[in-house]
Amino acid sequence: MNPWRPPPPASTACAAGPLRWRRTPVRDEPDEPARREQPQRPAVFLDKDGTLIDGMPCNADPALLKLRPGAADALAALASAGYALLVATNQAGLARGYYTRTQFAQLQAGLERQLHEATGVTLLDFLVCPHAPAPDGRPSCLCRKPAPGLLVRAARRHGIDLARSWMVGDSLADVEAGHRAGCRTVLLSDDESGAPTTPLRRPDARAQNWADVTAHILSPTPAS
Ligand SMILES: [Zn+2]
Repeated sequence: MNPWRPPPPASTACAAGPLRWRRTPVRDEPDEPARREQPQRPAVFLDKDGTLIDGMPCNADPALLKLRPGAADALAALASAGYALLVATNQAGLARGYYTRTQFAQLQAGLERQLHEATGVTLLDFLVCPHAPAPDGRPSCLCRKPAPGLLVRAARRHGIDLARSWMVGDSLADVEAGHRAGCRTVLLSDDESGAPTTPLRRPDARAQNWADVTAHILSPTPAS
């Protein structure tokens, strides 16, 4: 006897595990054709601590944020001149556990709110390297400045013309990251002690305050 038996029910699982619906990502990357059609725009990448706001190592309290003098007016001028504005910041404190991603998100929201209230300006993006450097101080990832990963990735995502863009920061690591990405750079620092050690660390312009930064970037013949 070989009685007929119904086939076993189709399994919903396979070797790779059960099927799952893929949700559309909130921030979908544009596909190549869309990206090509997008007009390329210039941007100014802004370091956060010591450049955009007073440097307070390890601070995660939005109430303690203080924009540096002149930063609000400078950003408003750069935005009206057509520059997209993006923050690019190293936050090794995340890897070291000094603050959590949630705390940092609150800080970021506070900064974006303060900027918007002061200038009406909205940041195009807020780029964060959450990794710690290697024990010898060298970057252990592709995004910690002086590596250019944050800038290059943002350029791809937003259609930014890096050759027409600038990186503004208070350290030579900012300058190097900007140059490695193909941008021009302004070193915003009144400290003349940190002499550039390589051509990549030589800023296209030095500024002592935010008014100088704007003057350099908006000048028809920027300093070289
Ligand atoms: Zn990183």
